[in-house]
Amino acid sequence: MILILLGPPGAGKGTQAQRLQDKHGLIQLSTGDMLRAAVAAGTEVGLKAKAVMERGELVSDEIMTGIISDRLGEPDTKNGVILDGFPRTEAQAEALDKMLLAKGLKLDAVIEMKTDDDILVERITGRYTCANCGAGYHDSFLKPKVEGVCDKCGGTEFTRRSDDVAETVISRLKAYHDQTAPLLPYYRQKGILKQVDGMAGIDEVTRQMEDALQAI
Ligand code: ADP
Ligand code: ADP
Ligand code: ZN
Repeated sequence: MILILLGPPGAGKGTQAQRLQDKHGLIQLSTGDMLRAAVAAGTEVGLKAKAVMERGELVSDEIMTGIISDRLGEPDTKNGVILDGFPRTEAQAEALDKMLLAKGLKLDAVIEMKTDDDILVERITGRYTCANCGAGYHDSFLKPKVEGVCDKCGGTEFTRRSDDVAETVISRLKAYHDQTAPLLPYYRQKGILKQVDGMAGIDEVTRQMEDALQAI
């Protein structure tokens, strides 16, 4: 199964992708995580992406399609993937269509996580991640069961993204509305667009995701 999660920054894509990965054995492909790993490792892609990401703008289509094409060539993706953060432009969506066609694969569904812009700053500025296993948390909405200890791995170190500050949220939202939202009619026309209420609580969103997948 090949799924795309589509929604603005902070909509809950990563949170739900982790759950779908754990439950259905799909692989979460987060282009944001891949870019952050490239920045941390100081690779050529990382050097090009760093400043763009800190400004809250989009990294070039060429770099992004290259990253995804390489990743889809790896054997662990054979059972299916959840694309989290890709495609983000019409050019990326068209490149993905070509890639899948060439590999004989089909896009099963695109799930839009509908959210109001005014809650996203709070979602994004409260977000943090286990430094050991990558599990996602939130200061108010998703706390570990024991304070300071990751539920999944017992890790006690957490990180926050340098772009998760109120100032960049404005440009990231603008990038979403200008460049990514046009993908909604693109996929609606193909008859594969589904929607969940991204404003609902995390468990309710998961339930709606499962309902949407049942129908496939
Ligand atoms: P995205 O990957 O779309 O940018 P995340 O999944 O990282 O978004 O979620 C952003 C933050 O909001 C995280 O800290 C997460 O724990 C929290 N969060 C995710 N979904 C919800 C929800 N439905 N209600 C409240 N908080 C949420
Ligand atoms: P969020 O969780 O807020 O939606 P991501 O982790 O997906 O953010 O992405 C972080 C940053 O990485 C983006 O603001 C952008 O600069 C870059 N990025 C990630 N995916 C893409 C993509 N498909 N195309 C262009 N830039 C991307
Ligand atoms: Zn952990």
